[in-house]
Amino acid sequence: MKHRSWAEPWRIKMVEPLRMTTRAEREVAIRAAGYNTFLLRSDDVYIDLLTDSGTSAMSDRQWAGMMLGDEAYAGSRNFYRLEAAVQQHYGFPHVIPTHQGRGAEHILSRLLIADGHVVPGNMYFTTTRAHQELAGGAFRDVIIDEAHDPTSEHPFKGDVDLAKLDAIVRDVGAEWIPYVSVAATVNMAGGQPISLANLRALRAYTQSRGIRVILDATRAVENAWFIQQREPGHRSESIAEILFAMCDCADGATMSGKKDSLVNIGGWLGLRDDSLAERARNLVVLFEGLHTYGGLAGRDMEAMAIGIEESVQEDYIRARIGQVHYLGNALIDAGIPIVLPIGGHAVFLDAAAFLPHLDREALPAQALTCELFLESGIRAMERGTVSAGRDPATGKNRTPPLELVRLTIPRRVYTQAHMDVVTESVQAVWEFRDSIRGLRFVSEPEYLRFFQARFEPLPVVSARVAAEEETAGAAV
Ligand SMILES: *Cc1c(COP(=O)(O)O)cnc(C)c1O
Repeated sequence: MKHRSWAEPWRIKMVEPLRMTTRAEREVAIRAAGYNTFLLRSDDVYIDLLTDSGTSAMSDRQWAGMMLGDEAYAGSRNFYRLEAAVQQHYGFPHVIPTHQGRGAEHILSRLLIADGHVVPGNMYFTTTRAHQELAGGAFRDVIIDEAHDPTSEHPFKGDVDLAKLDAIVRDVGAEWIPYVSVAATVNMAGGQPISLANLRALRAYTQSRGIRVILDATRAVENAWFIQQREPGHRSESIAEILFAMCDCADGATMSGKKDSLVNIGGWLGLRDDSLAERARNLVVLFEGLHTYGGLAGRDMEAMAIGIEESVQEDYIRARIGQVHYLGNALIDAGIPIVLPIGGHAVFLDAAAFLPHLDREALPAQALTCELFLESGIRAMERGTVSAGRDPATGKNRTPPLELVRLTIPRRVYTQAHMDVVTESVQAVWEFRDSIRGLRFVSEPEYLRFFQARFEPLPVVSARVAAEEETAGAAV
């Protein structure tokens, strides 16, 4: 037998029924949502691939842990459980819980960034950059060029280009760079990993110049799996060992437990420096809560501690990423343009290649999310022009090289049968792609506009077609 099937390393103990809707119902729903999948009601969604954030199914052990919540205001025993789990697996001696990842980003940015600072990083992430900018900093992308090319099969598209970083250091001076912001895996590049060799080279470079490295550890476990599978010399190391080695290259980390750590809410800030940690513990009281709960209930911290332990189990991570790759490979076989190689938490449709008749101003990725929902009730997310927002200096739309639709797979929630339905739905939309119309903004919020913006369909198939029609009309 050449190929042997594999199945999820869990069985189902409790089910959550899903509502099936008609196309007519979905048309009403998407119009009411302003053609923004973030504004849909979850009840109107069949397969929800909006995000892998906080959408994981917790295990029986995690639910049992919820009953062990110590809800004391200060010094909850669950805090010490969480602290020990983070210290053991991520290696940061100081652990400050926050309500979720952005809480940690906020505290860290306030502590380290001042007006005029420059923060280089391996591609921006929405909330991370927003907090860096709010604190007075300017983000500079130093990811390798391959990350911006959806067809490049580079195994570590999350790598930092040290020459780009060096050019910034020479230009502004190391004293203006509070830290280098490194993500593992890189969400906006398609869930692409950074190699351990690159992290170590970055560590050596920054150490010699007195610049800190801060890791966005949100999906570092998934990154560790790619290092184990793809980077020479790591095949026999455990996920836990690789994770620890990755964190060893950083002075601190911000973490959204809602991803790798298999919980519905929670995060933390991890630091090595004693005095910086002292200041962070003081600041967290102002924005999140006392430093032994940081906006979380005791039971949430217990669930996250258990989730951390489960997340580094080899069987779990193999099936987790295996499911994402199962979907990605099925789409590749169907001839659908996706970002290559397939990432860790999601499959990204290349909307620019899917809808080449639409200009960027016609928001092709946003339009594609709407068509997929209309077709079969699948909810995806735009990661393109809308997500990129406006440049705070010029007020102009940023046009990122990648115009993507993210099909994000929640952990331990859907079966491979659901993945088959997703593949067939994307194929169905692919069949009538030429007739898909673009969208335009009706309202645009100031911060992180993709969450709450409202749109309407363009009157004709594309902006480019409209322009051609106008010229044609003038000629007559
Ligand atoms: C989700 C996420 C964050 C922010 O975490 P929240 O828990 O949503 O606040 C930061 N960085 C990355 C890479 C993320 O995916």
